[in-house]
Amino acid sequence: MGSNGGSPAFSVQARPCGVHNGSKIISVEAGMFDPLMTYDVMVVGGGNAGLCAAITARQTGASVLLLEQAPRELRGGNSRHTRNLRVIHDTPSEFLREVYLEDEYWGDLARVTGGNTDENLSRIMINESAGVTHWMAQCGARFQRSPSGTMNPSRKTAFLLGGGKALLNAYYLTAERLGVDILYDTEVRSLPLDDGFAREVKVVAHGVPTTVCAKAVVVSSGSFQANIDWLKHYWGEAADHFLIRGTAYAKGQILKDLLDQDVAPMGNPAQCHIVAVDARAPKFDGGIVTRLDCVPFSIVVDQNIRRIYDEGADIGPRRYAIWGRLVAQCQNQIAYAVFDSRAEGFFRPSIYPPIRAQTITELAGKLALDPPTLVATIHAFNSAVRSGTLDGNGPSHWQTEGITPPKTRWALPIDTPPFNSYPLGPGITFSYLGVKVDENARVLMTDGRPSGNIFAAGAIMAANVLGQGYLAGMGMTIGTVFGRIAGREAAKYANH
Ligand SMILES: Cc1cc2nc3c(=O)[nH]c(=O)nc-3n(C[C@H](O)[C@H](O)[C@H](O)COP(=O)(O)OP(=O)(O)OC[C@H]3O[C@@H](n4cnc5c(N)ncnc54)[C@H](O)[C@@H]3O)c2cc1C
Repeated sequence: MGSNGGSPAFSVQARPCGVHNGSKIISVEAGMFDPLMTYDVMVVGGGNAGLCAAITARQTGASVLLLEQAPRELRGGNSRHTRNLRVIHDTPSEFLREVYLEDEYWGDLARVTGGNTDENLSRIMINESAGVTHWMAQCGARFQRSPSGTMNPSRKTAFLLGGGKALLNAYYLTAERLGVDILYDTEVRSLPLDDGFAREVKVVAHGVPTTVCAKAVVVSSGSFQANIDWLKHYWGEAADHFLIRGTAYAKGQILKDLLDQDVAPMGNPAQCHIVAVDARAPKFDGGIVTRLDCVPFSIVVDQNIRRIYDEGADIGPRRYAIWGRLVAQCQNQIAYAVFDSRAEGFFRPSIYPPIRAQTITELAGKLALDPPTLVATIHAFNSAVRSGTLDGNGPSHWQTEGITPPKTRWALPIDTPPFNSYPLGPGITFSYLGVKVDENARVLMTDGRPSGNIFAAGAIMAANVLGQGYLAGMGMTIGTVFGRIAGREAAKYANH
């Protein structure tokens, strides 16, 4: 079958659903859930990793129950906000340019993590990424081809047509058709461990506390970045101002539950991936569209109207994370990008309109900043601009002289009304704490032994390969590759 369409290569079978036991029946999307049935594989969390695990396990013939805390309309976790995934390929395709081979991928990963990665697991992930787009297409994924997509094909990442939302909808449909039982509105509260085995799982399904049994469990419930109280352990009161870019359901209950029961931790609990987003974004689920592109074309001041960093220092993708961290460290976790009408055409506009005024004084009033100080700051900046000639690169090489911090690129004077501002807030993408796994995605205990029947995939184990930093498209690759490994190994375990 083609790599980007056609019918599934595996057979889709209807499977009789669990039958109620006389006490409590709970309807589910894909049938009925039987509290007394022992499933082969239970999957905790229905994002990309969980769906890949559930579909893979079911494809081997295992009975599978997927438990998702969100209601159906909010299913899909952070995965539904995604755009792309990073895969190796030795020939170009309709949605991937040129080639991207193992050693280059490994080099990129080693660089961004500063070596804070398990090379064995990383190379497994990199090598297995070669086949994932084909498998994804069999499960209904579509990729953006040139020139139909809004994104040009990239060399290192495949862009999803319709984004993560379309992917997750396709995966849920595939899972339902295959006969995976799915329970929404079901929070998994704990997996009591008995000598490293989870023999039953405590859940609250549709408000009803109950217990579910499975021979093997895949945990794919993400990390804890939506748990503000937990973030406060490391960030203090600042965490109250954090905007969570993705799902509100990433509270880390299962992560904490496992770590409290001697499962080995992985990753730095104090670290988060943070990007600068529009401070007017919703508290949760603002997604990709709230990220701001304007910083290199602006000056950025904090509430005290101090410029905080060289806005031109980094104009590549790294700038999002640099500025996220800087804003998180500002007073009240807010800063303001200020630019004039001449800068407007240089960047992708935000989903929100800029705050706009005809004078700097008026703009300061709208931002609740001290007008004379903002006027003086902009005057000092403008006086320091050393404009060059306007060549083919536009004003990209214009710099300042004699001010601290300097602006080393795109130093455009702010002098042509209307004047604009975007308020910047810290947008948390994910936290780095997870559980340690082996090459079969089996969760490891603190004494180094493998757990009995618990496997992990996705953000909950991502720190094994991504101990720090980030590479575009890696979150989805980790979830897809280790989701499939976890599903396969959990089913294998259950069948023995
Ligand atoms: C705005 C944004 C854009 C991103 N863009 C990209 C991108 O383009 N490419 C990329 O590779 N990565 C991207 N990422 C990162 C990517 O989203 C994650 O790495 C990936 O989605 C993690 O998948 P997952 O399945 O592990 O977790 P999730 O997709 O978050 O799924 C976890 C699921 O578990 C459920 N859950 C949690 N706790 C429980 C519980 N106790 N009981 C039951 N269910 C529970 C949640 O409701 C959720 O549905 C982006 C992240 C964000 C926030």
